[in-house]
Amino acid sequence: MNVIYTDNNATTKVDDQVIEEMTPYFGELYGNPSSMHTFGDNVGKKVKQARQRVANLINADPDEIVFTSCGTESDNAAIHAAINAFPERKHIITSTVEHPAIKNLYSHLAAKQGYEVTFVPVDRKGRLNTQLLYESMSENTALISLMWANNETGVIFPIEEVAKRANEKGILFHTDAVQAAGKLDIDVKKAGVDMLSLSGHKIHAPKGIGVLYVKKGFKFTPYLIGGHQEGGRRGGTENTAFIIGLGKACELARENLSVMNSQVGELRDYLQSRLLEKIAGTSVNGELDNRLPNTLSIGFDAVEGESILLLLDRDGICASSGSACTSGSLDPSHVLMAMEVPFKSAHGTIRFSLSHYNTKDEMDLIVKTMVPTIEKLRAMSPFWKDGKMI
Ligand SMILES: *Cc1c(COP(=O)(O)O)cnc(C)c1O
Repeated sequence: MNVIYTDNNATTKVDDQVIEEMTPYFGELYGNPSSMHTFGDNVGKKVKQARQRVANLINADPDEIVFTSCGTESDNAAIHAAINAFPERKHIITSTVEHPAIKNLYSHLAAKQGYEVTFVPVDRKGRLNTQLLYESMSENTALISLMWANNETGVIFPIEEVAKRANEKGILFHTDAVQAAGKLDIDVKKAGVDMLSLSGHKIHAPKGIGVLYVKKGFKFTPYLIGGHQEGGRRGGTENTAFIIGLGKACELARENLSVMNSQVGELRDYLQSRLLEKIAGTSVNGELDNRLPNTLSIGFDAVEGESILLLLDRDGICASSGSACTSGSLDPSHVLMAMEVPFKSAHGTIRFSLSHYNTKDEMDLIVKTMVPTIEKLRAMSPFWKDGKMI
């Protein structure tokens, strides 16, 4: 069966060109990039090229790039470094809709290390309450960490504006740009961020490789203490093949940015308008004109998201309900709850997240499957009667 893959915010297909670029470094080119001999140094040169390619994607300098094992490690390392930089400050700020890599770490710091944590709320459209954020900033604040774009709704936060305020007050600013990369134009210098996280597997590189951008001049303390690798900012022999693959993926992401913002955006809009037109009691979550171009979080009244997914799965359509990380629990996602999406619509929310591999035919097939699926589920739903939710 052909799979229609619309779950790209959970993970992406590794690009064939990325695989091609990586393959020799699993095999004959196994040298250690730190070695003195030419055999190792040749790998070192390729790692250097990868570092440059990653830097190019976000307008950083290559020596500001630290390779990590994943987005989660980058997030953890950033928060760790920030609180170490200001040991006397005991207040940290984030939002209510962060990825678990930030959200659960902040909760941990509150519960186990006595940090005062401000989780800044969002409104019904997922927009950050910047007023409350600014009011919560104080001399005791070490760090603000905000995602650049939300993985569930695609809503984009005003990173540049908040980073500017943070800089003025001498508060460190970190952004989780895992979902923004490859979809938005990221410029760390223009944005004025101190640290920024990326993850390979969200941009067509493999799982298990990430990046932390660390601004020059910031007194960074490593999270993994060990050898001199990554300029002393992360111990451990470099994951050469994956780093090289990620470099290629970043180069491709840069080239594909306009396709993402034109073709992929148009496909998403097409899918959205077809679903709204064909299925009553449907609503889109998040600020419509301030979203990632590939993301559609859409709620169907009076049905269960999980049931929709199971029926779509039978036709080979891969989507997700809320965040892949929360599936397994029956609560609506913390993002939709933070947005106060009404329960009966939040429960029936699923997320389609597209990539440049998707086609218009696939969007038509999704709509063709969704119409009878929702009809069937509503026929069994105690919350649906006479064409509307009760
Ligand atoms: C996927 C994701 C992460 C985690 O990245 P991993 O490489 O899977 O650890 C962090 N933040 C956001 C917003 C994500 O979407």
